[in-house]
Amino acid sequence: PVVMGIETSCDETGVGIVRGHELLADAVASSVEEHARFGGVVPEVASRAHLEAMVPTVQRALDDAGLTLADLDGIAVTAGPGLAGALMVGVGAAKAYSLATGVPLYGVNHLSAHIAVDTLENGPIPEPAIGLLVSGGHSTIMMVEDLAGKVTQLGASIDDAAGEAFDKVARLLGLPFPGGPYIDRAAKEGDRAFVRFPRGLSAAKDQEHHRYDFSFSGLKTAVARWIEARRLDGEDVPVNDVAAAFQEAVCDVLTRKAILAAKEHGVDTILLGGGVAANSRLRALATERAEQAGITLRYPRPKLCTDNGAMVAALGSHLVAAGVSPSRFDFPANSSMDVEIVSLADRL
Ligand code: ATP
Ligand code: MG
Ligand code: FE
Repeated sequence: PVVMGIETSCDETGVGIVRGHELLADAVASSVEEHARFGGVVPEVASRAHLEAMVPTVQRALDDAGLTLADLDGIAVTAGPGLAGALMVGVGAAKAYSLATGVPLYGVNHLSAHIAVDTLENGPIPEPAIGLLVSGGHSTIMMVEDLAGKVTQLGASIDDAAGEAFDKVARLLGLPFPGGPYIDRAAKEGDRAFVRFPRGLSAAKDQEHHRYDFSFSGLKTAVARWIEARRLDGEDVPVNDVAAAFQEAVCDVLTRKAILAAKEHGVDTILLGGGVAANSRLRALATERAEQAGITLRYPRPKLCTDNGAMVAALGSHLVAAGVSPSRFDFPANSSMDVEIVSLADRL
C-alpha cells in the first residue's frame, strides 16, 4: 500500500510517504531553531510553526514521491503522545485530507511508529521482538508481539527520559539545545572511564520491582554535583570527558536491560528506536553486547531515529497491509496516549 504519514507531536512537521516498506518521500520542517534560545520546546511556538508548515510539507512530500493525494491507500497521523496543541494540527490536517479524498485515516501511536520505521531500512520485523524506545520523552522496553496491535510495556523510566537526560546534561556543560547530538560528538574526544557515574536502578534490590525500568534523574544530579565541585575548586570542566562518562552510564544501563529482557523472554531480536537511538555509542555498545548474547540487533539510520513523517507512514503501511480497520473520524489527539495502543481502531 501507498501511505502518507503525518507527524506533529513535537517540533518537527514531518510528512513521509511509503509504498510497502519502500521510502518514497520524507519531508521534515523543524522549528527547533525557534526553541533553542529557550533551552526547550515551547508548545505555542511549535503549534504555530506546524500550522504554517503543514500544507507546504505535504506538498513537498507528494512532489518528492511524484504522487498526488489520489494515489494514496491510507493516511496515517500521530494521534499521540506528544504536545496537545501540536498534535491537534497534524490530526486536523490528516482528517481534512482524508475527508477531501476519501482515503482511509489511521490515528497511530508515535512510539510504535519510532519502532516501525526500522522496516523501511531492514524489512519486516521478526515477531516477537524487544523494542528499546529511547527518545526525548520516553525510555521504554517494549515487547512487540504484533506490530499491528499487540505491544506491551516491560519497563520504562521512572523519572527523566534518556533524551531528556542528554539535553539537561548538555545544558550543564554549556552545549546547545537539543544536547544529544552535541554530547555524542564531544564524547568521541573524551574518556568514558574518566569517572564512573551512577547506573540507576541497577542495584540488587531493584531487580525485583524495577528489573526493566530506568532512572536518569540521579545520574543528572550526580553530573551536576561533579561539575559544581570542580568549579568550586577553580578548575576547568573537561567537557569531552564528562560527556563521555555520562553517555557511557546511560548506554550501559539501556543496553544491559534490553538484552536482559530479550534473554528472559526468549526473544532473539532487539530493535532500537527514538532520537537517542541515533547515538553512536548506544549503537556500538548494543551491537557488541547483542553479538555476545547471540541476539540480532536492528536500528534505522540516524535521520530516521529522530521525529519524522516516514515513521508514521511506515506504521500506517504495516496496519493497512495487516488489514487493521481505519480509525473513526472523530478520534481526538491524545497527548498522553498509552504506549500499548498501537492505533485507534474503529472505536474510540
Ligand atoms: P518522544 O518520541 O518520546 O515523544 P521526542 O519525539 O521529542 O520524544 P525524539 O525526536 O524521538 O523525541 O528524540 C529527540 C531526543 O533525541 C532529544 O532528547 C535529543 O537530544 C536526542 N538525540 C538526538 N540525537 C542524539 C544523539 N546522537 N545522541 C543522544 N541523544 C540524541
Ligand atoms: Mg525534535
Ligand atoms: Fe519521538
